[in-house]
Amino acid sequence: MFTSPSNIEELIRGFHLEDSMLRYSSFVPRLYNYCRSLGFEPGRILPSRAFCSDESQGYPTILIAKHFGTFPFNHGRGGAIVATQRHAPFAEHGQDLVIVQASHVGYDPETAAFGQYRRIHAQHAGHSTSCGKIAGVIARYQREYAFAQGGVLLESCGGSLCVCIDNGLLRGNRSEGLFLNLTRLAEPDANGEFIPVRAYSTSKSFPASAALQRELSDLHLREGERIPIGAHLQPTMFFFQRDLDETPEGRDQQELGLISAMPWIVTSPHPLLTAAQINTQVEFDRAFRTAAQAPSFRGKRLLYVSGLNIDISPQPGENFPTTHFVPWAAYLQDRDGRARILEQPELLMALLAQSEDNPDAVDLEAAITVMSEGDMVRVGSAASLENPQRPR
Ligand SMILES: [Zn+2]
Repeated sequence: MFTSPSNIEELIRGFHLEDSMLRYSSFVPRLYNYCRSLGFEPGRILPSRAFCSDESQGYPTILIAKHFGTFPFNHGRGGAIVATQRHAPFAEHGQDLVIVQASHVGYDPETAAFGQYRRIHAQHAGHSTSCGKIAGVIARYQREYAFAQGGVLLESCGGSLCVCIDNGLLRGNRSEGLFLNLTRLAEPDANGEFIPVRAYSTSKSFPASAALQRELSDLHLREGERIPIGAHLQPTMFFFQRDLDETPEGRDQQELGLISAMPWIVTSPHPLLTAAQINTQVEFDRAFRTAAQAPSFRGKRLLYVSGLNIDISPQPGENFPTTHFVPWAAYLQDRDGRARILEQPELLMALLAQSEDNPDAVDLEAAITVMSEGDMVRVGSAASLENPQRPR
């Protein structure tokens, strides 16, 4: 899907966050009512969630159970990868089917930082990364970017701007790591070749590209002065390569989905927010196709909604996060096989058009009381559970 930088930039820009957010307590009843408006039958609707395994995803799951009257099927793996091989058992368990797929990112209201979440059950109730799985995936790329920010220096060569690049970053025979798009950084000669104007012991200096000279026209370096390129190393100036397991839903599925967009993730002011957003987009684009083609969904109503869960750390006295949902896109299929995609604005409008009141919502406390106070069902009998062959 992500083949060119303009493609990636467009997708990142196309995801509207601030004006598209719904509280989960508002999103789920609206989703239920939207399903009803599509003809989904009460009592025959089975929800499913493709969330990360993080305990912070419990509150959205509880709300789905409350409003759909049943615990949702589990369609998610760590990092909110959709387990598409579970389509068939899920489809078998219900008549009208709803999938909610969401990556998640923590938010700390005290510092307004994305990617942090207060673990109130940990010994010191401190903050940790959220989504931790995605944080683990992107850490190596953040280190490689930080190295490159210091390994590309700006200097003045006889009055004109030059980029001095560490030989390790220039080496083309690596199979993994951060690779520079030299055409964005340096100016080739008349033959299109990059000829260094200076060679140092561990680096080489090239005339800066016209674009970089324009961008840094306010930078006046003295002869002999060198400064790291730092934040001026923009996402179009580099890319990453890694030898990854390309098996569908294999061990590297998350990284495979994120690697082309990694330059935008590591340069983002909120890397874990950008990464979670891209994971949602990539996973929807991949998994909706598997749903559209799955024989198990034929003849069924299916609404597959994707979005982003923003987990706002619980405050003192709160048991759960105040999770917000940002819808991204949906796939809708009716029993006759008619199908369509709802893009973000259309999906948001469809949800906002619904009421937050859900008369079918279950009182979970009352339901639990019924379960605990009813007559206990005897499981088997002493005789049938006994193995007559068993030596005594
Ligand atoms: Zn997670």
